[in-house]
Amino acid sequence: MDFDLPEEHRAFKDMADRWVEAELPKEWARKLEADEHNYPHELWEKFSEAGFHGIGIDEEYGGQGGDVLMQMVLARSLARSLGGLAWIWGITSFAGSKSIGLYGSAEQKAKYLPKIAEGKLKAAISFTEPGGGTDLLGSMATTAEKVDGGWVINGEKIWSSSAHVADYLLCIARSDKNVDKKHQGLSLFWVPAKSEGVAITPLAKLGMRSMGSCTVRYDNVFVADENVLAEPHRAWYTLLPTLNNERIMVGAFCLGVIDGVLEDALDYMHQRKAFGKKIGQFQILQHYIADIATMQQSTELMLYFCADKQARGENVGNQANMLKLMASENANQAADLGIQILGGMGYSAETDMQRYWRDSRLWRIGPVTNEMVRNGIAETLGLPRSF
Ligand SMILES: Cc1cc2nc3c(=O)[nH]c(=O)nc-3n(C[C@H](O)[C@H](O)[C@H](O)COP(=O)(O)OP(=O)(O)OC[C@H]3O[C@@H](n4cnc5c(N)ncnc54)[C@H](O)[C@@H]3O)c2cc1C
Repeated sequence: MDFDLPEEHRAFKDMADRWVEAELPKEWARKLEADEHNYPHELWEKFSEAGFHGIGIDEEYGGQGGDVLMQMVLARSLARSLGGLAWIWGITSFAGSKSIGLYGSAEQKAKYLPKIAEGKLKAAISFTEPGGGTDLLGSMATTAEKVDGGWVINGEKIWSSSAHVADYLLCIARSDKNVDKKHQGLSLFWVPAKSEGVAITPLAKLGMRSMGSCTVRYDNVFVADENVLAEPHRAWYTLLPTLNNERIMVGAFCLGVIDGVLEDALDYMHQRKAFGKKIGQFQILQHYIADIATMQQSTELMLYFCADKQARGENVGNQANMLKLMASENANQAADLGIQILGGMGYSAETDMQRYWRDSRLWRIGPVTNEMVRNGIAETLGLPRSF
């Protein structure tokens, strides 16, 4: 058994860590995040220059190639400094590269993937509705009606992150109401964000402030047939295999946050003094840091295990759920302990602990809540569905 990354991925991690050290100082990330009303375009451009938008896109479409392990490595390195703002890279990587790459037609791939790889196209995920995200299918009120040459979408989405700056919205809508089961009759649309009838409004929120998460209203929005992704009415079957990937990416972002928390907490323990001693000498703080290091190690093992299995095409559904659960709870708890170690400075907007805490708090809620993840894990143990 080898629990380490393959050689190629280790070299990539070294490069990514050095790049983050040089290009993304935490102080800069802190300022970017706090600027609630301004999307960090300069961060996006840095990713473009580094070629990171092309990771996961085949070379024939201008990308850098790379599997889920490579994406995981980058996600971890970015989140160490950026915390939740690492999503600035992740959203288009997931909504754009992954969706078009996996279920786009040859024409759609040729048209969009090179632009994404170059950093010339931003995408946003427009799935959750005001009626509820956990019971997404049961509460879906957004409809798509077939018309000549395309579809007309009506409805409202909420929390579509970075929609206000996106070129395309990956939108799911009910396209057929005459179905037996709620996961049937859904279609996936690649909606040009500037389409007539689209209205996007950013929402104020706890973390990842400058990224912007928005309500998106679709008011008689025409979407051409060529902008339907995969087979109409079968969106859910198309999306299901990609959910594990999303959970692995969340695990990687959480681990990056734990890395950041650990280094900042240790640094502070070596410097700060109380009662004439470095606070790192106090046993209780040593216990806190030992807990954070243990969270880091266990999250890393589970993450590498899941990503490796996924890259080899093995079934990783239940473990990806467990990873998402433990990684998000570990990251949020580590950041909480980090705040405690820094005392008042942990609560200050001048340090990063509060940012790590606010950002990691989301990952216990999205993209799927930890309650729902626990439901899924319990069902694999033979227990009846609880809802
Ligand atoms: C900052 C932010 C960014 C986001 N970005 C995006 C995005 O880019 N695109 C997008 O589409 N969505 C996005 N989301 C939405 C996110 O995926 C949803 O918030 C999440 O799925 C939960 O849905 P909800 O908020 O409607 O909670 P609800 O579904 O209303 O859940 C409320 C509570 O009930 C619990 N609950 C519900 N059903 C059960 C059950 N069966 N058993 C036990 N407990 C249950 C939940 O776990 C939760 O605690 C984002 C959300 C936030 C806050």
